Amino acid sequence: MKSADFAYHRPGDIAEAVRHLQDYDGGARVLAGGQSLMPMINMRLWRPDAVVDINGLTDLTGLTVEGDETRIGALVRHSTLEFSPLVAERLPLLKAMVAFVGDRQVRNRGTIGGSLVQGDPTGEMPLGCLVLGATVHVLGPSGARAIAMEDLYEGAYAATLAPDEVLTEVHVPPHPPHFAFRECCRRHNDFCVLSVAATGPIADDGRWRGLRIGLGGVNDTPVLAEASMALLEGSRLDDADIAAAGQAAREAIDPPDDIRGSAEYRAHLVPLYVARVLRDLRASAHA
Ligand SMILES: Cc1cc2nc3c(=O)[nH]c(=O)nc-3n(C[C@H](O)[C@H](O)[C@H](O)COP(=O)(O)OP(=O)(O)OC[C@H]3O[C@@H](n4cnc5c(N)ncnc54)[C@H](O)[C@@H]3O)c2cc1C
Repeated sequence: MKSADFAYHRPGDIAEAVRHLQDYDGGARVLAGGQSLMPMINMRLWRPDAVVDINGLTDLTGLTVEGDETRIGALVRHSTLEFSPLVAERLPLLKAMVAFVGDRQVRNRGTIGGSLVQGDPTGEMPLGCLVLGATVHVLGPSGARAIAMEDLYEGAYAATLAPDEVLTEVHVPPHPPHFAFRECCRRHNDFCVLSVAATGPIADDGRWRGLRIGLGGVNDTPVLAEASMALLEGSRLDDADIAAAGQAAREAIDPPDDIRGSAEYRAHLVPLYVARVLRDLRASAHA
């Protein structure tokens, strides 16, 4: 199918991009990698009046370190995250997760900003950024503001950005020393049935404190398994604690029924995958 007609703008700076978005009063969409936007437009599921192509905004392509934060420009491609030595060193969880995003073509074009605004509940980058405690920075007509990942979504595919705001940068605090990630997919690199990511430090006494466990694909948005995290505070991650944390993770879920799996199947998998990821985490610390 072909798209309906739309106006096309290619701004030279971010302020101009915001002005174009404002001019269409909610009727324009930002175009980044186009991997989600263009299929939606071509299938006429979305019919924007205008597309504002931000691919010329080189200010949004940086990967930098500021103090103890790692900053990722909105236009950084998935493949850049995949192969960047800086990301490998400072954000190994994101590096591990981004390899599961689509296929090579999708990763060559798709961007972190697009992934975060798209807000697919199964998306790897929204889950990774949530678990790492990242903050997204956006610019709109009334200036810049920061949104914690916990507050970025009000539902599936529903980021809390205004239609005339552009996501400019993702700020990621220091990465905990240990991490683990797994996802269940029907086919390699398909959108996942569910995914689990965990990070944490282990103290000299062998106890884990400040563990973060995130779940993708089992609710409208990626979620933290708060009950499991609380239960594991000060734990040595022995098998009994891990099993209990797996069961407790069910409190965070409200799984969908869809083409990739039933709600019942997802609910069955959650404790198993949480337990596997926690065993991986424990093993990584003892390696
Ligand atoms: C075959 C296929 C398989 C895929 N598999 C996966 C997968 O396994 N896991 C996964 O996570 N994703 C997957 N994707 C989606 C992919 O990750 C996309 O790259 C991503 O969802 C959107 O990024 P994009 O840069 O292409 O954004 P676009 O498609 O350009 O935009 C997506 C949305 O975000 C908005 N937007 C984009 N950038 C900004 C910005 N800076 N500020 C404000 N709004 C913005 C757009 O207006 C649009 O609403 C797949 C896509 C395809 C086509």
